[in-house]
Amino acid sequence: MKIFDLLEEHDYEQLVFCQDKSTGLKAIICIHDTTLGPGLGGTRIWNYEEEEEAIVDVIRLARGMTLKNSAAGLNLGGGKAVIIGDPKEIKTEALFRTFGRYIEGLNGRYITAEDMNTTTQDMNWINAETDYVVGLEGKSGDPSPVTAFGVFRGIQAACNEVYGSDELTDKVVAVQGVGAVGYTLCEHLHKAGAKLIVTDIFKENIQKAVDAFGATAVDPDEIYGVDCDIFAPCAMGAIINDFTIDKLKCKIVSGSANNQLAENKHGELLEEKGILYVPDFVINSGGVINVFEEIQGYNEQRALGRASAIYDTCKRIFAMAREEKIPTYEAAERVAEDRIAAMCKVNSLYLDK
Ligand code: NAD
Repeated sequence: MKIFDLLEEHDYEQLVFCQDKSTGLKAIICIHDTTLGPGLGGTRIWNYEEEEEAIVDVIRLARGMTLKNSAAGLNLGGGKAVIIGDPKEIKTEALFRTFGRYIEGLNGRYITAEDMNTTTQDMNWINAETDYVVGLEGKSGDPSPVTAFGVFRGIQAACNEVYGSDELTDKVVAVQGVGAVGYTLCEHLHKAGAKLIVTDIFKENIQKAVDAFGATAVDPDEIYGVDCDIFAPCAMGAIINDFTIDKLKCKIVSGSANNQLAENKHGELLEEKGILYVPDFVINSGGVINVFEEIQGYNEQRALGRASAIYDTCKRIFAMAREEKIPTYEAAERVAEDRIAAMCKVNSLYLDK
């Protein structure tokens, strides 16, 4: 693997390898771009089979955070960290505190948070060594309600684009996964008068949504083919793929799940089928908006206000996609990259700070 070639491809700033024999720490921190501010992104623990796999994952995720943070209008760059190992075996206070010292050593260029297989407790251990960690107990708390509200605003923007109105009364929305985000999203949709079709791999989650919102329940495999206006994936990634795309009967795909398109070509195929795709990193940015507020001193109303603006960002992306005749996922990347390019110009003026 030619690491510098890989970093050059999307102009990554820094890749940091953290090794500590006594705690077994093997971690990689990637800082993609700090034009807008410190690189913020969570720490993921995964039992990668090959080191190369961990490198490819961390740099891809770090760039994703640059785009997400920029499109959300936050003064944050993109970064991410991975710790290599089995989460059931490697987690100790000493490992996280050692990792916290590595983060502290970056002097604020990277700020971490929870991600797959890390918890609030792990963040507390990191916090014993550094303040460059967010999503701590007693601060911004669970980001899911703000994420769900942002997704709801993105759905309204998509309805406005497709049907000419934000109105959701009697629109049929198929929600895949009624967990933390999906369930709260259902609450917003139900209040707005939408009809819900839900699925989950846990029967009790489905039943809760049926009881609370009069939702229609379907099996997990059936959700792709149901008659609906909007498909809201709120479970896992890569669900728009070669096997599912032809089943879709919706006009809009807009949900919280990360990395919904298995490949970019699926974004183009949605377009060809006349389905509006709301780019995932834009519509699900409520979570990062929520932790950003923690850096400034948490204020829930301000967080919700910023999440509400996801509506306007979506509209801008749809307009660009229409005008430039490009898929929405590509327009979203351009919106994010244009903001970074514009801020580079601001930063080029010398100030004796
Ligand atoms: P969660 O684990 O609380 O909920 C996910 C739900 O999906 C669970 O109820 C699970 O049983 C269900 N599920 C899993 N596999 C399924 C399948 N094959 N079919 C149907 N249902 C299935 O997670 P969450 O926090 O609600 O996050 C949902 C998605 O949104 C994830 O992709 C996450 O990465 C993304 N996301 C979440 C946030 C946040 O603030 N929580 C922010 C940004 C993105």
